[in-house]
Amino acid sequence: MRWMPGASPFSPADVARKDFYKTTAELRLMVAPGLATLASLDAVRAVIRPGLTTLELNEVADAAIRAHGGVSNFQMVPGYRHTVCASVNDEVVHGIPGDRVIQPGDIVSIDSGADVGGWSGDSAMTIVVPDPARPELVAARQRLSDVTEGSMWRGIAQLAVARHLNEIGAAIEDYVESQGDFGILTDYIGHGIGRSMHEEPPVFNYRVRARGPEVKPGLVVAIEPMVTAGGIDTVIADDGWTVATVDGSMAAHWEHSVAVHRGGIWVLTAADGGASMLLPLGITPMPIP
Ligand code: MG
Ligand code: MG
Repeated sequence: MRWMPGASPFSPADVARKDFYKTTAELRLMVAPGLATLASLDAVRAVIRPGLTTLELNEVADAAIRAHGGVSNFQMVPGYRHTVCASVNDEVVHGIPGDRVIQPGDIVSIDSGADVGGWSGDSAMTIVVPDPARPELVAARQRLSDVTEGSMWRGIAQLAVARHLNEIGAAIEDYVESQGDFGILTDYIGHGIGRSMHEEPPVFNYRVRARGPEVKPGLVVAIEPMVTAGGIDTVIADDGWTVATVDGSMAAHWEHSVAVHRGGIWVLTAADGGASMLLPLGITPMPIP
């Protein structure tokens, strides 16, 4: 989600606002859209290969969402007509599916979301397409994706123990900084999610001055670091959507929707609630009661 520069992070009004905390009954309704969103990304992962167009990937994702009784919530965003965003190489986010053909060695970020029963899921993944002729290029791009994914999981793990939301951004920033020379986008951030895909509160992928809203049962957030192998300045293409790096550096994007409930946290867009990635970080996700 785009963050408007100059807007005050976590204004007192945001922090005081309680309406983004959901009831346990509402959290239960967010399980199905999470799983439909997951299915759409799994479907793309299963088919992606050189020669397919990004529009063909979009159709695969759309069919998976419909098979799970959902509809694309990206199509509910004013002016956007597709089910996923497909962002290739120096494109970071919001790439519009079209006739671009996937090439060996491409680093492709797919962002998808499903609405089931009036509730939303939102998740993204980055895939590096194999290229046996360029192992070093593939390894560098995979490393970028792995650092980005790792930072997302550290942000999610922090959510399980945090008092305030700014701790999530701090965990993401600290991890990325520890891994080498990477850039975290600051103009695009995560967000609350519920009946709409984009809700309060903003979820930064870096430290901000204010500690942010309280982390407590009922908070549901989409945590989505966007990381580049170079600078963090971006430009929006003539299509009005595609966000690309100014310096042409490669970019990765990972995202999960995560619920905080009275028993712990649960990653709504992962089949195991995030267990396989969180257990090594000392966190045991718990199903929504
Ligand atoms: Mg997303
Ligand atoms: Mg999002």
